[in-house]
Amino acid sequence: MPSEQISDFCRIDELLSPEERLVRDSVRNFVQQKFLPRVRQCYRDGTFPSELIPDLGELGIFGITIKGYGCPGLSYLAYGLAMQELEAGDSGLRSFASVQGGLSMTALNLFGSEEQKKKYLPELARAKLLSCFGLTEPDFGSNPGGMITRAKKDGDRWVINGTKMWITNGSVANIAIVWAKTGEDSKSVRGFIVPTDAKGFKANKIEGKLSMRASVTSELVLEDVRVPADAMLPGAAGLTGPLSCLNHARFGIAWGSLGAARACYEEALSYAKNRVQFSKPIAGYQLTQQKLADMLTEITKGQLLAWRVAKLLDAGQGKHFHISMAKRNNVAISLDIARQARSILGGNGILDEYGALRHAANLETVYTYEGTHEMHTLILGEQITGIAAFE
Ligand code: FAD
Repeated sequence: MPSEQISDFCRIDELLSPEERLVRDSVRNFVQQKFLPRVRQCYRDGTFPSELIPDLGELGIFGITIKGYGCPGLSYLAYGLAMQELEAGDSGLRSFASVQGGLSMTALNLFGSEEQKKKYLPELARAKLLSCFGLTEPDFGSNPGGMITRAKKDGDRWVINGTKMWITNGSVANIAIVWAKTGEDSKSVRGFIVPTDAKGFKANKIEGKLSMRASVTSELVLEDVRVPADAMLPGAAGLTGPLSCLNHARFGIAWGSLGAARACYEEALSYAKNRVQFSKPIAGYQLTQQKLADMLTEITKGQLLAWRVAKLLDAGQGKHFHISMAKRNNVAISLDIARQARSILGGNGILDEYGALRHAANLETVYTYEGTHEMHTLILGEQITGIAAFE
């Protein structure tokens, strides 16, 4: 087996169409040539490389599964492969795409009016317009149904008040998809397209992150923000709206996390072959080989699970619990692989010259966002037993 194919141990490449391979290769080239040379400095500085946004728009990966409105309408598998390559660069880069394409564009595509889709989707697809997705609040993360943010009708306008927390791209977005209650219970949750330059809207960048440093995360504060009546997404009523968007993004994460794992595995393998301790390269010791064998096996199993979920989604048969299984498993094994890779790198593994600890730190966020590992356990538990254990 040629060494460049070593992390495609079971020849998953053969399960892809020529179009899907093309998407994978073009995103991989972008990451290798443009993103990776910048990521170390961005991570140190706590910034996203915004100069690359036009290139990302050119790649055609935002809203990749959407048909029409300037979007390519490709398969879920193509979408997953693109996310895998982005996250082989950094989870922050994949998060940028997950929010723009997986969350905001899905919200517009599934629940927007024809006018809203025509107005926003083509611009978002090309990254001429940037978006964020505001669901989480300071006191309501795993339980978004408790949200405090309210939208009240005042004549022909909605007036929105509330605070959203942990919002990826919040400070760089032109529009925010903000979820707010129009009444008291969670059935009244509606989505609103809010221009971020609206009076009363503020995005405060969250500082001090030890994870996802190459991604912008913000708090959104909305104080009497007035938007026209047609800023509401007409198709989304209740929590099903935001949760459907999350499902779409979570599927991308199931693939994406494996990109980070693959990058860590390949880095550890290369290091182990070159690092000599005692009499030979550390790759020649059984304990290192066991780590590498476990890493490659888990990556391959994760890819096969994600591939199957992609196929189910492409056939219109994928369910939220399939996505939960893939997100839960693949993020957990990727985090473990990143830590194992760091251990193979020894002391050098704590330097940002290598990717392992950056990926591990990022994956700590990925373990928690888009439904925590525990929430996906409960989703699977409910599916298996028929008994919900959330409350
Ligand atoms: P909590 O819900 O307080 O959970 C804390 C712990 O308690 C977790 O381990 C959880 O699993 C556990 N727990 C909670 N309830 C139960 C239960 N019933 N049973 C067992 N265990 C339970 N949100 C957005 O809306 N948009 C974004 O763009 C976005 N980007 C993010 C970017 C970053 C870098 C981060 C860190 C978060 C982002 N989030 C975003 C928010 C993210 O989705 C939430 O952090 C996540 O849903 C968890 O919510 P929480 O942090 O409030 O934790």
